Amino acid sequence: MYRYCLQCGKSHKACICRWIKSLPSNVELIILQHSGEKNRPMGTAKILTLSLENSVCFIGEDFSQHTELNSLLDDSHYTHYIMYPCDQSYCVSSLSVNGDEQSGLGLNPSSKKIRVILLDGTWKKAYKMWQVSKNLHELPMLHLPKGLKGNYRIRKAPSDNSLSTVEAGYHVLSILQPEQDFTPLLTAFDNMIQFYINQMPEGVFERNYQKSLSE
Ligand SMILES: [Zn+2]
Repeated sequence: MYRYCLQCGKSHKACICRWIKSLPSNVELIILQHSGEKNRPMGTAKILTLSLENSVCFIGEDFSQHTELNSLLDDSHYTHYIMYPCDQSYCVSSLSVNGDEQSGLGLNPSSKKIRVILLDGTWKKAYKMWQVSKNLHELPMLHLPKGLKGNYRIRKAPSDNSLSTVEAGYHVLSILQPEQDFTPLLTAFDNMIQFYINQMPEGVFERNYQKSLSE
């Protein structure tokens, strides 16, 4: 008997597979996970890869020579973008069909299929990954609309714009494919958080985390 679920990699008790709903998506996600992130208990990127058949997750820091990633990037049937908020990034909604064409800036000519790269790690680790992975530097950069609030109830000191990777993925997919319902991703996330809160000794959640919810 394995101690861990072979699907999600979590212990059988904490297995998240029961909350996963398989979702079709035309837009594909590539998650680049910092090698320091993969053993964190939450690991929300897992919800994306389990729910979305055409999403992949690669682990590392410098992806410049990553064969699988580079062969995906070489596929000319796709336009690739990277979520990397900065001065030069465009809002995801400018790519959507209903988006403002002026701000679209021809980022997705000839309506190719879309792949979006998400960097999974703290801001500092994501910065490092982007810096050393030279093959990502040519890609158009994207950011999410301002003011989206995360629901990371058990992260200490949450700030308004700290979205988990699964939430970022949810927003990207929902903006680009508004006709589709991706809320099962958030439901799975919420169930996972609730599970971890339930595991905490009585009072721990209230003492350490509850306050931040009402702020
Ligand atoms: Zn599982």
